[in-house]
Amino acid sequence: MTENLNLFTSTQALFKDALDKLGYDEGMYELLKEPLRMIEVRIPIKMDDGKVKVFTGYRGQHNDAVGPTKGGVRYHPQVTLEEVKALSMWMTLKAGIVDLPYGGGKGAIVCDPREMSMGELERLSRGYVRALSQVMGPNKDIPAPDVFTNAQIMAWMMDEYSRIDEFNSPGFITGKPIVLGGSQGRDRATAEGVTIIIEEAAKRRGIDMKGARIVIQGFGNAGSFLSKFLHDAGAKVIGISDAYGALHDPEGLDIDYLLDRRDSFGTVTTLFDNTISNQELLELDCDILVPAAISNQITEKNAHNIKAPIVVEAANGPTTTEGTRILKERGILLVPDVLASAGGVTVSYFEWVQNNMGYYWTEEEVREKMTKKMVEAFENVYTTAETRNIDMRLAAYMIGVRKTAEASRFRGWA
Ligand code: GLU
Repeated sequence: MTENLNLFTSTQALFKDALDKLGYDEGMYELLKEPLRMIEVRIPIKMDDGKVKVFTGYRGQHNDAVGPTKGGVRYHPQVTLEEVKALSMWMTLKAGIVDLPYGGGKGAIVCDPREMSMGELERLSRGYVRALSQVMGPNKDIPAPDVFTNAQIMAWMMDEYSRIDEFNSPGFITGKPIVLGGSQGRDRATAEGVTIIIEEAAKRRGIDMKGARIVIQGFGNAGSFLSKFLHDAGAKVIGISDAYGALHDPEGLDIDYLLDRRDSFGTVTTLFDNTISNQELLELDCDILVPAAISNQITEKNAHNIKAPIVVEAANGPTTTEGTRILKERGILLVPDVLASAGGVTVSYFEWVQNNMGYYWTEEEVREKMTKKMVEAFENVYTTAETRNIDMRLAAYMIGVRKTAEASRFRGWA
């Protein structure tokens, strides 16, 4: 039998395990097994050639018992409704793990921004907000950047919402440019959070970050910032990849050069001849492996060949359930996505708080507050996993879902 690669059903199975372990009954699972609200919209946009094209958009709001829902909007040609459901459930977990007053949400538009002009992207982003403005808002559901979306897109969305709302509404969305109420440090927050988590994991396994050999799959927002932070911290980044291939140098890659040459979608390997495949990259001999690209990368097929003693998931869903089981059996420390990549939403929360009070923190203040949350979250999940002898993913699910389950019970929803 081939293993289940469906992110939504495998997420449901893990929610079930976590709720069982926490002692909740079937009714709680029934409530939390999918988003409370899942919306599909069709967005007609005038393209540059004068023709109208109709795009499909989604927004999933998993559960708002704790507070407004929160999560990014991704632009991707292959994104599906089921994937958005799973991603919104993961946002509930992230918010629970770093203890934010939010439930999980996630949105998407089926499109390929690499093939669209700035004008088309602007009209599409504004169209998405018009289609969903009734169910979104600073105290309802707060979007943010995700795969292939950025601060400019957040600015257009905020502007569109402000026009509809007839107020200047910076708290509608996070990940904005600084001049529009964005927070210091938000653009690099996911990578900074992953760096903190890598340092914590390395400590637990007695690995010195100075000279540690790191392999990063993906060179997008998270992967590129991460390679820089780790390189600056004295680690040796020996492998990176993008959607087209991977680069490997056991002596350490020239990260500054690669960062300089990458395009805005993270492509850089097309400039080189001596590339290896993404599969070969994952199996390289190294101290820490960081999948920071797409889902279903470490599966039952290759989990036996992973050589890194520590795997830290910076992408959403890079390791399957079977892959997770095999890594645990082999004694490899796997730090799950919902913990490792929670730095982004943490600083988004700080951005929203700053917008609400109209008073802004320095970069140091933001970093200090974020570091505290990430270190505590790691400690919490790591200790739960150790004491119960379960993998860190299940521990993270248990901690992540608990607050939403409790809040739902108080509200009488389960
Ligand atoms: N898209 C990011 C995530 O998956 C950030 C979400 C946010 O900042 O609200 O965690």
